[in-house]
Amino acid sequence: MNMDDLDRKSYDLIVIGAGASGMSAAIAFQKIRLLSGKEKGDVLILEKNERVGKKVLATGNGRCNLSNKDMELSHFHSHEADFPGRVLSGVTPSACLSFLSEIGIVTTSEGNKLFPMSKTSASVVDAFRYAMDDLDIKIATDAAVKNIVKENLFAVTCEDGRVFSSDLLIIACGGACASYTGTTGDGYKWLSRLGHKVFAPKPSIVQLLTDNSVTKALSGLRLDCELTLTADGNVVAEQYGEVLFTDYGLSGPAVLQVSGEVSRRMRKDRLTVPVKVSLRLFDEKTLLSIEEELMERRRTFASRPSEQFLLSILPQKIGAMLLKSALERPMSLPVSTITDGDIKKILSTMRSWNFQVLGTRSLEQAQTTIGGADCAEFSEETLESKLVSGLFACGEVLDVDGDCGGYNLTWAFASGILAGRSAAMLLSDKAEVSDGN
Ligand SMILES: Cc1cc2nc3c(=O)[nH]c(=O)nc-3n(C[C@H](O)[C@H](O)[C@H](O)COP(=O)(O)OP(=O)(O)OC[C@H]3O[C@@H](n4cnc5c(N)ncnc54)[C@H](O)[C@@H]3O)c2cc1C
Repeated sequence: MNMDDLDRKSYDLIVIGAGASGMSAAIAFQKIRLLSGKEKGDVLILEKNERVGKKVLATGNGRCNLSNKDMELSHFHSHEADFPGRVLSGVTPSACLSFLSEIGIVTTSEGNKLFPMSKTSASVVDAFRYAMDDLDIKIATDAAVKNIVKENLFAVTCEDGRVFSSDLLIIACGGACASYTGTTGDGYKWLSRLGHKVFAPKPSIVQLLTDNSVTKALSGLRLDCELTLTADGNVVAEQYGEVLFTDYGLSGPAVLQVSGEVSRRMRKDRLTVPVKVSLRLFDEKTLLSIEEELMERRRTFASRPSEQFLLSILPQKIGAMLLKSALERPMSLPVSTITDGDIKKILSTMRSWNFQVLGTRSLEQAQTTIGGADCAEFSEETLESKLVSGLFACGEVLDVDGDCGGYNLTWAFASGILAGRSAAMLLSDKAEVSDGN
């Protein structure tokens, strides 16, 4: 069919958004039609971008970390705490991997993280494109949806004035982060207008803004360490991994992983409680041997300037900055002036180097969105709206966010498959009712 003709007819199903969840939903819909001995449905995906799967291309630094061997439900978050688990018991993470394998995506692991064997996200998008083509799923790109009205059918109006109509509608337009991939929170407006409650979007898997007097001086340097996040004096997250010092604060995998816990404690760009990051650079056994080494150095290197006191224990710049934070005294003074108490302070800073958190960077820099459409208003068995019949939502537009490590794509695939599958079953039920009349 000519692309210009796409708006001249009514569809069984329109999916808004050709991201991980929308493409999964459209494919699952057609597969269920075929499995139940029916004709393929008339399915149209409306995508704002000039191409499909733009965000998938950006995932995992272009390598697409699409799942994880550790699928503890604690990696998924929502105001409806049990909702992600219930959906993931309907379409399990291993069912998602089978779905991916059926469309030609084979995986490999790096630790617990799963990637396509090619380690390129472009191959994942290609597999989806070929599968959609095989299943006669029509795709309109450069089709930014502006509004949705539900009367007898759904009427979906695009920015360019085209109007598309369908029996069933799946909103899969993502969250509000990384707008350069096409996601600008449009789904929240439509869902609100249709009567749904939407939790305000907040960034997650995002860098932290901290008091930057130390981090700016160390900008670009990395450390492997144990990170502890405390809020109002209570430990709320712990993570071992790489931390990157930056001009504005802290980044790196360990920081991104705990960032959601900071966002959840923010209201209108302000923290509601004091939040602190502590970095433990060494375990207790290593600290004991460092203590002995420092006592020895005080004798052997007595006349050297203090700034060389941690030579080869830490990278030079980091060591000098840690000394400055711990001792607050001129580093030009000789090592001989360092007291036992000073050594205790150095060890204590190595045990717990503290950074006051001021907030997070914005949604634009984030990898996922906290908040979105209230899951309580969607069936956990079908993902159909409890307020508008024939309307489904999946992926990041719903109030579910996952940790860093393949959890967000798993949620997108699983919820997309469930929404597509449920929409196909609803269409069959409707057809049976009208045949019976
Ligand atoms: C840089 C980056 C790296 C990431 N890496 C990983 C990773 O390695 N592993 C992981 O699990 N997760 C990762 N994520 C998160 C993951 O990519 C998302 O959570 C997931 O892709 C969400 O899928 P979705 O289908 O809900 O939304 P999206 O993939 O965002 O797709 C939504 C689609 O809807 C379209 N759309 C939006 N508004 C409209 C409109 N008005 N009209 C028509 N179309 C519209 C958008 O253009 C987009 O194509 C990463 C995210 C980012 C930003």
